[in-house]
Amino acid sequence: MAQKQFQAESKKLLDLMINSVYTHKEIFLRELISNASDAIDKIYYKTLTDDSLTFDKDNYYIKVIIDKKNRILKVTDTGIGMTKEELDENLGVIAKSGSMAFKNEHEIKDGHDIIGQFGVGFYSAFMVADTVTVVSKAFGSDEAFMWKSSGSEGYTIEPCEKESYGTDVILKIKENTEEENFDDYLEEYKIRSIIKKYSDFIRYPIKMDITKRRLKEGSDKEYEEYKEEEIVNSMVPIWKKNKNELKQEDYENFYAEKHYGFDKPLKHIHVSVDGAVSYNAILFIPEKPPFGYYTKEYEKGLELYSNGVLIMNKCPDLLPDYFSFIKGMVDSEDLSLNISREMLQHDRQLKLIAKNINTKIKNELENLLKNERDKYETFYKSFGPQLKYGVYSNFGIDKDLLKDLLLFYSSKEKKMVTLNEYVSRMPEEQKYIYYAAGDSIERLAKLPQTELVTDKGYEILYFTDDIDEFAIKMLGSYKDKEFKSVSSGDLGIDTEEDKTSGEKEDYDELFKQMKEILGDRVTDVRASKRLKNHAVCLSSDGEVTIEMEKVLKAMPYSKNIKAKKILEINVNHEVMEPIRKAFAEDREKLAFYTNLLYNQALLIEGLPVDDPVEFSNSICKLMT
Ligand code: ADP
Ligand code: MG
Repeated sequence: MAQKQFQAESKKLLDLMINSVYTHKEIFLRELISNASDAIDKIYYKTLTDDSLTFDKDNYYIKVIIDKKNRILKVTDTGIGMTKEELDENLGVIAKSGSMAFKNEHEIKDGHDIIGQFGVGFYSAFMVADTVTVVSKAFGSDEAFMWKSSGSEGYTIEPCEKESYGTDVILKIKENTEEENFDDYLEEYKIRSIIKKYSDFIRYPIKMDITKRRLKEGSDKEYEEYKEEEIVNSMVPIWKKNKNELKQEDYENFYAEKHYGFDKPLKHIHVSVDGAVSYNAILFIPEKPPFGYYTKEYEKGLELYSNGVLIMNKCPDLLPDYFSFIKGMVDSEDLSLNISREMLQHDRQLKLIAKNINTKIKNELENLLKNERDKYETFYKSFGPQLKYGVYSNFGIDKDLLKDLLLFYSSKEKKMVTLNEYVSRMPEEQKYIYYAAGDSIERLAKLPQTELVTDKGYEILYFTDDIDEFAIKMLGSYKDKEFKSVSSGDLGIDTEEDKTSGEKEDYDELFKQMKEILGDRVTDVRASKRLKNHAVCLSSDGEVTIEMEKVLKAMPYSKNIKAKKILEINVNHEVMEPIRKAFAEDREKLAFYTNLLYNQALLIEGLPVDDPVEFSNSICKLMT
């Protein structure tokens, strides 16, 4: 019989499992039971949607059998089973679950982490077993097959006998080692408690033959042991349970069991609604973004059940994009089982549920922000950009819904603040909400453009995400206060010079010439009102700021969108003296200085200078 090779990634993962030093090896049972439950789900679904079939409840169960003498642990199910091809495809290749994504983003070095962090599925059996045998007969087929593997060298598939459809997964449990006690996995009480811990909410009965004692017949002192089949799980799905009966740990186990994420959830939301629409839902706010979250490939969605039967793995219509990080499930009696994806999109009930859920999530986030600020900031680090993206791309209601969930770094508080906190601290005469946009907080803190605003004692919000300024443009204002970039042409702050002015007339001709020298690289050269200590800076007129230009440049369709740049000069700065002199005596020198100043302003902005070689030559020239 020919040995087949595992697909390369599978082999890697398998090796990891075999040699694993992971301490929670017991999760292998959760994985096998979850697969068995999925297999029964599939057949249940079939019978519900096909009138010629009936689902006889009593025929569907999972059974865990221990054969201590032969070191065998067996998990059987009466589910859909697998054909020969399916055995080959499903067990020879890593399933779509987490591990694949992991492999792309990280070198697999130490198995310890992935096992805890990902749904490793079927292969986890190799953590506790030397040999794994899968005997399966597919529903509707009359042939059964046996898949067998003793490790990463490969596997075999051959025909075998099996009475009814379903799958048996048979583990030959490893011998004890000095470090590890594998015998545990052959102990009834141990297996039972693992099932209780991880699989209590599985909706189908999980049966075990439990050893009991009774008086021997005809005796009143002598006892004998006998076995009796028992259902060891409670079978009530967690979402149908009363919240008061559940512990934090139950939700965390459910999160792990469902492979919603590899982190611990930051918060769970358990909803039971009875009314115009009835549904139960368990939603999770994860702590960390899942791998690939900020890529196009990421698919949002919640599991959708119709009265306990899974009808869709990832129903995208239940979540708006800005809450795409939410994990969890919804179960409703009001949804038809036979509903197609297309029809579902227009289903009135589903829309009501989605709306309802949206509000619940928003409220929960608000509560978190109000009552558990630290947790909220952790959340915001992971998913803040997504909320801001939501503000940017949604109009009306959603924008309003999200604006109070935003946080930005404050120049004054030196921490993240809400817009409401900012506005409530504003001095009466302050007209705008000021912000500075750039790469990092450290850089923004040194930006010359902020001088006047800081001097006034006003707080500045630092925007360090690309999306920030775009989102805020969409928002327009908060509590009637408009947003203003510290780099914008008019800051809306009256300065001393404004009132006493007259003297700035003197520079008109000089600045006109400087503008001519710079050509269309700038739209204007002006005396700065905002600079105190620095000589020059750039500001911008109009909708597009310099920071936005930078972001747009990186995008394919907006390369040519430019900010209207203004070169601002501090007329009280000592550089004015040589400039004035050059203006009076030497036009070529004026051009030389003007270019230097302009390039400096570019550098301060974090923009590339026009010609780095020429720029550095100019500086040398200045020195010699
Ligand atoms: P996942 O459950 O995330 O798909 P697994 O590694 O746990 O990944 O399982 C791989 C695949 O093998 C499953 O998707 C399923 O198609 C198949 N499978 C595993 N166990 C069973 C079973 N008991 N009955 C039917 N199919 C199964
Ligand atoms: Mg699985």
